[in-house]
Amino acid sequence: MIEVSHLKKTYSNGLEVLKDVNAVIGKGEVISIIGPSGTGKSTFLRCLNLLETPSGGSIVVNGEDLLSPKTDISAVRCKMGMVFQSFNLFNHLSIMENLCIGPMKLLGKSRESAQARAMELLSMVGLAEKANAMPSQLSGGQKQRVAIARCLSMDPEIILFDEPTSALDPTMVSEVLGVIRTLAKQGMTMVIVTHEMRFARDVSTRIFYMDQGVVYEEGTPEQIFENPQKERTRIFINRIRDYNYQIHSANYDLYQLQGGITQFCNKYFLPQPVQFNIQLLTEEALQIVPLGKGTTDLALRYSEKTGLIALELLMPAGIASVLHNPTTPPDGLSMSIIEGLCSKIEETAENLPEGERLRLRFEIKQIS
Ligand code: ADP
Ligand code: MG
Repeated sequence: MIEVSHLKKTYSNGLEVLKDVNAVIGKGEVISIIGPSGTGKSTFLRCLNLLETPSGGSIVVNGEDLLSPKTDISAVRCKMGMVFQSFNLFNHLSIMENLCIGPMKLLGKSRESAQARAMELLSMVGLAEKANAMPSQLSGGQKQRVAIARCLSMDPEIILFDEPTSALDPTMVSEVLGVIRTLAKQGMTMVIVTHEMRFARDVSTRIFYMDQGVVYEEGTPEQIFENPQKERTRIFINRIRDYNYQIHSANYDLYQLQGGITQFCNKYFLPQPVQFNIQLLTEEALQIVPLGKGTTDLALRYSEKTGLIALELLMPAGIASVLHNPTTPPDGLSMSIIEGLCSKIEETAENLPEGERLRLRFEIKQIS
């Protein structure tokens, strides 16, 4: 139904937001787009229905090239409805008038048929009683349901949602998601930018993870949420927070490092015993690795989703092994403390742009 190839968008200030977006969306699919903010999700939606002019690439909808000069832009917008974070209702018009104005002006419907359809749609979103109310009399959740009904009043083939629940009070999120769920069951084709992971997982046929101006990874909800393949997807899905520190010599500033770790632990509310174990592990791990042969990159990673905490040490190039080094085996006492603290210890060689480097990874036992 929609085929996007090599879509690019650079804003007039020179910011290249969409670098190379490729996607195919079938009829009846529900696609959720997730990803960090500022990665071009809204820009992508706005390009799809031509609220924004793409700088390059192509968008083909039902065989029609949207970027061809012959394309009737307002017809495209009628077929592709959009629901915004901020509702965008006409505040000086009643709910009924909000739903009738588009079909009467743009689709040439009579007032009677527009009103009849509006009542059907208001019933569908649970707001038939509010037909004569003004937008200011409704809650945020109700306004957003009206906005969805208004979008449906244009009989769109596709609906694009840009974070439809992120301006809402938490108590109202589910009433809006409920309406979107109903539309999904009815087979409506939808593209939804959302931060509601549980919802995205339940309702979508596929998930697009967007990052750095591309669809970085896509897959079924199971693939993306259970088993993401690429690093940035994993970091996002598992809500991995990290603290990084570079060590340049054996005389590194231990107090600064410890202070940084304490701050990190406090920021993410890691309990005192956990903090103690992290500090101890860091000190002992730095005892067993050769320092001063180049830069060692230390990273502490904490998954807010799974609770997993890991310490990683990326060694300078040229160190082949720490754990299994036959000439200078790791100090026995340090090693036994580390083994007591960790559920998993591994070393792997990694191919990085600057060359092959050894990564040591220590997963801390979870305290239950
Ligand atoms: P997301 O929806 O993923 O948070 P956006 O598509 O809103 O991302 O924005 C991506 C980037 O483009 C951001 O850095 C944003 O500041 C910038 N941006 C968005 N709209 C404009 C615009 N009209 N002009 C210039 N820069 C913009
Ligand atoms: Mg956005």
